[in-house]
Amino acid sequence: MGAKSTDTDFAHLRHRMVVDQLRARHLDDDRVLAAMEKVPRHLFVPETQRHAAYNDGPLPIGAGQTISQPYMVARMTELLRLSPTDRVLEIGTGSGYQAAILAELAGEVWTLERHADLADRAAELLLELGYTNVHVIICDGSLGLPEMAPFDAIVVTAAAPAVPDCLKAQLGFNGRMVIPVTSGHNEDLRLIERSAPLGQQDDVKNEKGLDSSFRETSILACTFVPLIGKEGYPQ
Ligand code: SAM
Repeated sequence: MGAKSTDTDFAHLRHRMVVDQLRARHLDDDRVLAAMEKVPRHLFVPETQRHAAYNDGPLPIGAGQTISQPYMVARMTELLRLSPTDRVLEIGTGSGYQAAILAELAGEVWTLERHADLADRAAELLLELGYTNVHVIICDGSLGLPEMAPFDAIVVTAAAPAVPDCLKAQLGFNGRMVIPVTSGHNEDLRLIERSAPLGQQDDVKNEKGLDSSFRETSILACTFVPLIGKEGYPQ
């Protein structure tokens, strides 16, 4: 892509991204694919990276951080099974791109970022693009956002040493959480699903104050930047 690339050029590349990187890898949730086809990913990367915005990989966004590979964004979003009224928490705003995708599919999105410069840039762009249902907050997202819980869905876009109990506690009944977790030298993307209690008898709390109705599934191997914070890795 040259310096004079137009919106039409980028729309064409975005369409190819959906067909070649997402549909071809069996992603088939039409709502997610429509969001990926709509959100202008090239605006979420630094100008020097625009030519590569629709390539099949992550890209640097400053502060030593990355915007995730389009496939990973779409796959994580698909796993969240979002409805238009859902309240969603994202941990790791980065460029704001994943937040925009979530905002296309859910009712309201809270997104947390520890780097103020990334958060400010993302908030400005999201507003410019008309995403008034996204709230960008600068904080240690490893603790979640208990004051706005419960959430229908939580997505963590940085790798944690373990699934933080405080995030599980902020997931509503029937909620879904997607989180990359490091185990040994590997990382895998996990889906945590919280089921609704059938009755009081299921509402049994364990010693951490969580009920026992969480199902954890390992989805695929992945590589993310680390989640830095109180419930993540030390700085
Ligand atoms: N979702 C992002 C996007 O669409 O561009 C990509 C996120 S990048 C892979 C991971 C982000 O998580 C980085 O911006 C990093 O600063 C952030 N992060 C790491 N630890 C964090 C924490 N404890 N709280 C909030 N953000 C954190």
